[in-house]
Order: sequence, then C-alpha cells, then structure tokens
Amino acid sequence: MTMNNQGSPTATGAGQTREPATISGDRGMDHEERLIFELGRPGMSGVDIPRVEIAESRLAGQRRKGPIGLPGLSEPEVVRHYVRLSRMNYSIDAGLYPLGSCTMKHNPRLNEKLARLPGFGDLHPLAPLSAAQGALALIGELMRWLTALTGMPAVTMVPKAGAHGELCGMLTIRAAIAARGEQRPRVLVPESAHGTNPATATFAGFTVDEIKATPKGRVDVAALEAKLGPDVGAVMLTNPNTCGLFERDVLRIAQLVHKAGAYFYCDGANFNAIAGRVRPGDLGVDAMHINLHKTFSTPHGGGGPGAGPVVLSAALAPFAPLPLLVHDASGFRLIEDRDEVPAGARPFGRMCAFHGQMGMFVRALATMLSHGRDGIRQASEDAVLSANYILASLKDAMSAPFEGPCMHEALFDDEFLHDSGVTTLDFAKAMIDEGYHPMTVYFPLVVHGAMLIEPTESESKESLDRFIRVLGTMALEAKAGKRERFEGAPRLVPRRRLDETAASRKPVLRWKPKEMPKAAE
Ligand SMILES: *Cc1c(COP(=O)(O)O)cnc(C)c1O
Repeated sequence: MTMNNQGSPTATGAGQTREPATISGDRGMDHEERLIFELGRPGMSGVDIPRVEIAESRLAGQRRKGPIGLPGLSEPEVVRHYVRLSRMNYSIDAGLYPLGSCTMKHNPRLNEKLARLPGFGDLHPLAPLSAAQGALALIGELMRWLTALTGMPAVTMVPKAGAHGELCGMLTIRAAIAARGEQRPRVLVPESAHGTNPATATFAGFTVDEIKATPKGRVDVAALEAKLGPDVGAVMLTNPNTCGLFERDVLRIAQLVHKAGAYFYCDGANFNAIAGRVRPGDLGVDAMHINLHKTFSTPHGGGGPGAGPVVLSAALAPFAPLPLLVHDASGFRLIEDRDEVPAGARPFGRMCAFHGQMGMFVRALATMLSHGRDGIRQASEDAVLSANYILASLKDAMSAPFEGPCMHEALFDDEFLHDSGVTTLDFAKAMIDEGYHPMTVYFPLVVHGAMLIEPTESESKESLDRFIRVLGTMALEAKAGKRERFEGAPRLVPRRRLDETAASRKPVLRWKPKEMPKAAE
C-alpha cells in the first residue's frame, strides 16, 4: 500500500490540485514526478546505437511504419524517475507502519540475502527435479515447521496469498463434503470477518450466513449454535479475531461445529499473536491458511508477492490440491498427476501452474531458523505487548470499544471524535502529515469509525512512545476543535486527499497520451 496511490497528475479525480507557489512545480525534496511516457522524447535513448547501413532492397516490407510508443530518456533520467517514484512510497523500511490486520513487520536483511542465493533465486520453475532437490528439501523443511507450529498433520504449500489459501481450504472442504455424498451449501461467517472470508465462501459455491457478535466483540455462541444444521458445510472464524480479541469459546465452537458434521475453517492471518504459544490443531481447527508474508516477515503490500500455505486436519488432508511434494528413497518429487497420487489421496484439483512462491518460502524458513521455536513465541508475545502498550497509553486520549487487554492489535472507535467535526478518515489522513502511514480504518465493520493499530514486535519502546505521543496530541487537538488541521489532510505530500467518490464512480484506469503515436502495423 502506498501513501500516494496515484501515479500521474492526469490520472486523478477531483480535488487533486497541487499547492501552488513554486517555480519548478516541486516543493523542496517533494518532487512532482510525471509519467515516464510524458518525460520521454522521440529519438532520445539511454545508449548510443551504432548506425547500420542496410540497403533499402533488403528491408523490403520490414521497415517500421510508425513510432513504437516507447519513451526515450537518458540513463540518469530513467534512474531519477524511478528513485523519485520510490521515495513517494511509504514502507516499513521508512517508518512505523501500523496498518491493522496486515502485520507490517521488519524483514531482516539476512532473509533477503538467503532468498537471493543463486540456487534459490535463479532456479527455473521448469528445471528438472534432479536440479531442484535443494529447493524441494527447503519446502519440505518449511512444511515440517508449519505443521509443528500449528499442531496439524498436513499442509499444502500451493496457495499464493491469504485469500488464495482461504479458497484452497474451502475447496478442500467442498471436496470432503462431496466425498461423503452430502449437500451442505451454507457457511457461517461472523459479522466482524475480513471481507475475504464471505467472498471466498461465495466464490467456492457456498451461501454465506452471518453470525452476530456479542457486545464484548466476540462470536455469539448461542447465535452460532442456533444457525448450525445439516446444511452447514463450514464455519469460518478468525482467531484472534479482527477486533484484536481472542475467541475464548473456540473449543466449544469447534465442538458444536463438528457435532453438526461441519468443518472448522480458521482464518490464520492473525497467527502473529499466537505463533509458538497456541497450536490451532489443539483448538479443533480443520483448515487454516497462514500468511507467510505477514507472520513470517516477508515484505508485502501494494500487491506484492505473498504465500498462503494451508494446514489441514486428518479429515481434510486427502483432498489437498496438486502438486503434492513427496520424499522417498529416490529423493524429493512433485506429484503432478491424479493417477500417481498415493493411496487414499483424492486431490480436489489444481490451483496454479507452479508449486509455491519460492522467495517467500526461503524468507519464512530463514525467520523460523533464526528465531527458533522459543524466539517465535517471544516475537508473538512482544507483538501482543506492543499492542497492549498502545491500547493502555491511548485509550483515554482516544476511545476503545471493548474492555480489557487485546491481542496483537489495538482497536479504537470514533467516540472520542464525537462532536469534534473530525472523522476517522480526517484523523488517519492527518497522520500522514506527521510522517506515519495511517492505521487500518473503518474495519472491522462492527465498530463505529474503527481504527485498528498493529505495531508488531519490530518496534522499539522509543518508537512506540513517539507514536503514542503524536497520536495523543492529535487526539487532544481534534477534541479542542482544531478542525482545520484535519480537514483536507494530508498537506505535506505530492497529492492531497483523493475524492473517493469520484475515484470509485469515475475511475481513470488508463493514461492516454494527448496524441497517440501511430502503432506499428
Ligand atoms: C490479510 C488478511 C487476509 C487476506 O490475506 P491476503 O494475503 O491479503 O490475501 C484474510 N484475512 C485476514 C484477517 C487478513 O488480515
């Protein structure tokens, strides 16, 4: 995610005028950067290409009929363009990134170094298995860690993201239900769930039925029990949930779900709160995706790569998708074909052309090996401690919807902004002017004007203290009626606040040059 998610002055909605008053169009080091197509000039090039004389007769019919539409720039212009763009991005390497539900934690440089080892980084996905034994062994070792940390018997490494993992888990559940010869079209999802949960269930062919939350921000077990029946295929639950709270009734919920003949899908995106401390297998979970890119320190955001392995219970393991990784006397193998699967395996199908997301696997295993099991437990405890420090320090200046301590995310509502004329959105945008990426806002939906802050274990106490001081002062200013500071924020960025209505109603999805160069025939 970036602070300025609009690339070009032309690709904008309303409200996009830049503060005037400079000659260059830049403000200090805050550069106005045009698209590379607008910067390019015909005939300019980064290299000197020697002129080649070719007789016109030999070119018969080959000569280009018009410009090919690529920008022409010198090498330093290209370098500056991309460096300037990169400086418009906010990243975890630039500062604290409190985006709730995203676990934006530090990615140790050791992980990068290992992911770039030529044996991993340069391995071609179509290389023969004999040339990929090391990579497959690494995947096998990572699978061992994931099953040990979760207390689950099996894991599939296929999915490429959390939401993809959810889809994989739900398709596995669908296959298991079909194998029992049953019809169970309904899936129960709490109203606080991440949007991907109902979307996934629907995409996998189920209908979604919502479960109410209690005033304490947890699943209403009585409401859940009342909705269970022979037509329910699964319950999708996040634990700790999206309010940053541990579902204390999880054992009872698992028991009820299983008694009704349904499966328990757990959204494991919040695993950072419990890794090394709680094993989902001990909670009665049947399927759970793990966001390697959140919990195990891989850089992510802005659509960057992810990996969402899914751990499976014994009941679901046979239905895991192809390819399967097996290890026998002849080494590691990938089983790509239904006809070659071991006895008892009934894969539901295939989700991707290639196995896994190798760079993520290397980084995740590097994190696990460098921390060890005790270190992983320490990291999740520190993440929970950091969030509680923020909650305790800010709950009087701001306002918290639920009593008591939280897990790894501190949730606030907009009660403290009541009558101030400042909204959650204004407050979040004003954080940008203070050099912080905003927290997650208006999610979970069950809390009015929600602000969800996830500091992770990476931040020092000094870093947290500074953040608390800044947000505490901002809250005082909002309550003191200093609206002008919030209205229209952010100010100190290349682009001011987007007109969100125009951006979604009249999206400009494609940049068009003033004069389209004629394409080559
Ligand atoms: C991040 C997240 C997801 C989706 O994961 P992606 O890797 O972004 O697809 C699902 N559920 C919760 C609770 C999440 O925080």
